[in-house]
Amino acid sequence: MMSPSLLPLVTPSPAHICPFDQACSYLEEAAKELQLDSGLLAILSSPRKVVTVSVPVKLDSGEVRVLVGHRVQHCNILGPYKGGTRYHPAVTLQEVSALAMLMTWKCALLGIPYGGAKGGIALDPNQYSVGELERVTRRYTSELINDIGPAVDIPAPDMGTSSREMAWMMDTYSMNVGHAVPGVVTGKPLSIGGSRGRDLATGRGVMIVVREALAERGLSLAGVRVVIQGFGNVGGAAAQLLHDAGAKVLAVSNGRGGIFCETGLDIPALNVYVAQNRQVLAGFPGSIAISNAELLTLPCDVLIPAALENQITEENVARVQATIVAEAANGPVTLAADRALEARGVTVLPDILANAGGVVVSYLEWVQGLSYVFWDEERVNQEMEGLMVQAYRQVTHQAKLRQVPLRLAAYTLGVGRVAQALADRGLYP
Ligand code: NAD
Repeated sequence: MMSPSLLPLVTPSPAHICPFDQACSYLEEAAKELQLDSGLLAILSSPRKVVTVSVPVKLDSGEVRVLVGHRVQHCNILGPYKGGTRYHPAVTLQEVSALAMLMTWKCALLGIPYGGAKGGIALDPNQYSVGELERVTRRYTSELINDIGPAVDIPAPDMGTSSREMAWMMDTYSMNVGHAVPGVVTGKPLSIGGSRGRDLATGRGVMIVVREALAERGLSLAGVRVVIQGFGNVGGAAAQLLHDAGAKVLAVSNGRGGIFCETGLDIPALNVYVAQNRQVLAGFPGSIAISNAELLTLPCDVLIPAALENQITEENVARVQATIVAEAANGPVTLAADRALEARGVTVLPDILANAGGVVVSYLEWVQGLSYVFWDEERVNQEMEGLMVQAYRQVTHQAKLRQVPLRLAAYTLGVGRVAQALADRGLYP
């Protein structure tokens, strides 16, 4: 048997689902609801700029490997492009393009002055040493040097990257231009202009929208049964914050499988356990091992997919038992599964709302960097809370007004704001 650290970390998305087609379907649905002009829809359907680069890297063994990296800039009508950088073996141009489009609607929905972008390199970071990852990140950044910048395009962490990669990107960009440019990335370490609260921000945003959805039903987080797929940046933070708020986190998982405890997992103790066990969850005292497939269909009140796209599909949707699905990951529910959940009256808190806490605090980090005034964590969390709650209320209000599900309501707000800005600015030349 392979050692746990060598087991594959990923289950690729179902091959037949093209993430970009799926993103365009949601856009078209919103455009129809808004009665958008076909020319506007055509502009919004295509990324403005697509950059694909070769990233040659010398491995520690001396072998040279050439990786492929992308940066897709979907729309910058409202401000600089903004979006994460993903290191994952399943990264494709279609996936990055879909995620770039989602970022455009997400920023507009939250009322922050950014456009949408996304970047990624098809690699499994677990198979590379720290030195190799640093060389990959620096070369990728160099290849993009004319396409990024604090007023142009501002990368951030996503799956497989963290503040460490952002520090390398910031340093590479700064060395190339000859002076420190902290605003070129967000999600940086505090020592170089990162924001307090950024590490937990996406998970905190998930907790806020779940709390608001429960409050509308006259419920609180206390005692609510939660199941979370993915125990990384987002899933781990959501688990921690929901646990702190009194929710019972029954199950969590990562790429190596999941664990379940009927009375609720002790998340602080689990964090210590996984740190000591090379991210292996199985064997945590008081829990039983379960597969990722089993986790998604456990009886619970709130299901939080916080790993990959296309996890709730036509194949397993009938077995999903949650009454609320909070999309912490981007695109974890397929279009067909979304329709099926809607028909059953399951509330789906859509990704462009549920996981927007990260980009909100990225924006707050950028604002602090530009003004050279840095806030304490309480202020950051307060500002973020205000923007998240406002967006949640706007989406639920829009859903009632238009008699549509939350996803379509969120899209009509995000797409509508970008379309309005495009109409006001006019088409160049
Ligand atoms: P991460 O790399 O920190 O964590 C991902 C987690 O998913 C890990 O625990 C990993 O083991 C697990 N995983 C991988 N394959 C899996 C599988 N097949 N089944 C179950 N678990 C699996 O990434 P992250 O930053 O937490 O991002 C997770 C999702 O959230 C992505 O869709 C990302 O785009 C989205 N997101 C992230 C942020 C952010 O601030 N990091 C913001 C918005 C959205």
